[in-house]
Amino acid sequence: MQRYIPYGRQYIDEEDIKAVEEVLRSDFLTTGPKVQEFEQCFARYVGTKYAVAVANGTAALHAACMAAGVGSGDEVITTPMTFAASANSVIYCGGKPVFADIRSDTYTIDPEDVEKKITKKTKAIIPVHYTGQPCDMDEIQKIAKRHGLTVIEDSAHALGACYKGRPVGSISDMSTFSFHPVKHITTGEGGMITTNNQTLYQKMKMFLSHGITRSSESMRWASSDGWYYEQLFLGYNYRLTDIQSALGISQMKKLDDFIARRRHIAEMYNRGFADLKGIVLPFQPEYSQSAVHIYVLRVRREMAGKSRKEVFDFLRSKGLGVNVHYIPVYYFPYYQKLGYQKGLCPNAEQHYDECLTIPLYPMMTEEEVNYVIGTVRELFA
Ligand SMILES: *Cc1c(COP(=O)(O)O)cnc(C)c1O
Repeated sequence: MQRYIPYGRQYIDEEDIKAVEEVLRSDFLTTGPKVQEFEQCFARYVGTKYAVAVANGTAALHAACMAAGVGSGDEVITTPMTFAASANSVIYCGGKPVFADIRSDTYTIDPEDVEKKITKKTKAIIPVHYTGQPCDMDEIQKIAKRHGLTVIEDSAHALGACYKGRPVGSISDMSTFSFHPVKHITTGEGGMITTNNQTLYQKMKMFLSHGITRSSESMRWASSDGWYYEQLFLGYNYRLTDIQSALGISQMKKLDDFIARRRHIAEMYNRGFADLKGIVLPFQPEYSQSAVHIYVLRVRREMAGKSRKEVFDFLRSKGLGVNVHYIPVYYFPYYQKLGYQKGLCPNAEQHYDECLTIPLYPMMTEEEVNYVIGTVRELFA
């Protein structure tokens, strides 16, 4: 049988299974104590006052955009080199995503282009820590301050990453995370938003439960009726369950080991490919530490003598679950119909033509990593 190595996958052990089983035998499957415990554990890890558990990373972005006050006619600047959810969340709120180009070395959003895209309607910036590499947060913060903008870091790739000694998640107004199985830790589906701002925290808490409050300080009208609660605005049901939270807490205990393992595998790749001429390896600026969510190569057609498609098809035929991250968001028919046109972000478009994600996840064996290295070398050496 042909072997198959996916580009990413979860790691679940007996301890995780026991944690979930315990909740299944307990009183609360949702809105119970595990959710709060997961939030506190997460906030402690990234170093913020608050963390809000949500149904998934997309709901986290939606909640953050709502809390930032994104509404009809507002513009929000983000990168096209991301999963569609980063931009979709703006449209959920009635806003308009504006795409800024990426840097050609780190592939993260280029602060200079962000500044160029600012108008009177700009409300927020959503930088995405693509591959786990932190964006230029100092520059982005400066721009945001100058123009009075909210910053929401889409940190779905970057749990455990560090920017100038600060953990990703603790730097901006809000940061969002995802616990999809390919991400650093998993709860099946799941997400989190971190913030130090109490007002934003309370807004998001209500948002993910229909806009309802049960705390007398937040209520419009006073009442001593024991059953009384209020819906203050239109929210959703975006809650994470206690079952998922228990899995999240258990996964958090292994997070540092997961990241160490991811960094080790990335170093094996860096060494294994160092002498190859046709490919460009990930660039790691010295002021930051990537959380290495994915390992992205670029295939230089002129030097490799091969197109990315040829490389992709060959590696797939050898059982490697290689992937492409990402198709620029505005290439999709939905965005084209909204009026976005190709040519908007030349660096992102060139990156899309050349990029290739090779397998990387904590439980990969040394033998599997070496198989990937050997197979890529077959093509380029
Ligand atoms: C995974 C991901 C999301 C969405 O997270 P879900 O939990 O799948 O909804 C958003 N942005 C980026 C960059 C992601 O990688």
